[in-house]
Amino acid sequence: MINYAKIMYITLFVLLLSGCNPFAADETTQKERSADHISFSQHNPHQKAQPDIFIKNISISAIGDILVHKRVYRDAKTNDGYAFMPMMKQVKPYLNDTTISIANQETMIAGQAHGLSGYPTFNTPKSMGNTLKSLGIDVVSLANNHTLDQGPAGVKSAISHWEKLDMKYTGAYKSQRDRERLRVFQSDAGIDTAFLSYTYGTNGIPVPTGQSYLVNTIDYAQMRRDINKAKQQADAVVLSLHAGDEYEPLPNQLQKNVVQFAADLGVDAVIGHHPHVLQPIEWVEGKQGNRMLAAYSLGNFFSGQTALKKRIGGILKFDLEKRKDAQDTIQVKRPKFLLTYVTSAGPHNFEVLPMHDLDEADLEDHQNVYLESKQHVSQFMPELKFVGSPKGGEG
Ligand SMILES: [Zn+2]
Repeated sequence: MINYAKIMYITLFVLLLSGCNPFAADETTQKERSADHISFSQHNPHQKAQPDIFIKNISISAIGDILVHKRVYRDAKTNDGYAFMPMMKQVKPYLNDTTISIANQETMIAGQAHGLSGYPTFNTPKSMGNTLKSLGIDVVSLANNHTLDQGPAGVKSAISHWEKLDMKYTGAYKSQRDRERLRVFQSDAGIDTAFLSYTYGTNGIPVPTGQSYLVNTIDYAQMRRDINKAKQQADAVVLSLHAGDEYEPLPNQLQKNVVQFAADLGVDAVIGHHPHVLQPIEWVEGKQGNRMLAAYSLGNFFSGQTALKKRIGGILKFDLEKRKDAQDTIQVKRPKFLLTYVTSAGPHNFEVLPMHDLDEADLEDHQNVYLESKQHVSQFMPELKFVGSPKGGEG
């Protein structure tokens, strides 16, 4: 999380300096505003900014699946606990440079008291939570097919640690009252962002009767209520969606249906996870003519899975821009993607790295792997920008 006031100052400064509005949505608007602004700059240099160019902005980073397999936590073992930061520190600069960062912590951090375990019923050391906090993560999405791996006690133990860390969590709750409290990030910019999270299922582990608050599943009636409430209580709504076919490169019908449902209700961005491989990003139009950003799957951000495509993930970045007008319109702007890669030597030295930092010793044919991944993610959005470019390549 970064200091908003500084960004706002720089943004206004750039607006004043440039004599035009860099955020104008279309050519006509840009022309009209440029004309206004040039006139204003030349003849009224001390006049305050006009309300129609008053734009506020916050930035968001999102990462995909964090799946702490047994070989990963064994690799992280120290004399007195588990140290994950050495495995993740190379990506820290790309996570703590935005106003809000969100992660999909797929495995519950129920901790050692519940007996650590890997696949298929995961239980992760609590120190993973501390590492995410130190990386700059502000929100964790907890609704996924592994939420109930350690039962209600596992969810509650994990939540007690998130609370200790003052980490905001969404998608799994300790009580119905906890579930009803919408998670809204209030930024200094005055852009309040609500975070919702839902999963397709829980690997066949039944949700205990009367405890549906333990994990949010895809229930359209409930989702509609949640989204409508979020639209009332926040400026922007970001929805995490845990769905799709594992290891498939493209979204399935359920993902597409939920994404369209969210767009039609005015959600601003859907962040998808679960397939463990990257899937494309696209703009989806809602029935009000609104435009929503959809990332169908951000792939594995950090896991012990070792097949090439399961080592590749990414950090999605975008801005939420609020225009001071009659409706206080919110728009998603400037999506960007940073490709990541989890390296390891057998069951040791697991580490997530920005993919553009790799060389041939880290990954054979790294330039082509980078370019293929880039092409895959941006196939529905050719204008998508990427952070960095591969060593020795065009990017
Ligand atoms: Zn999953």
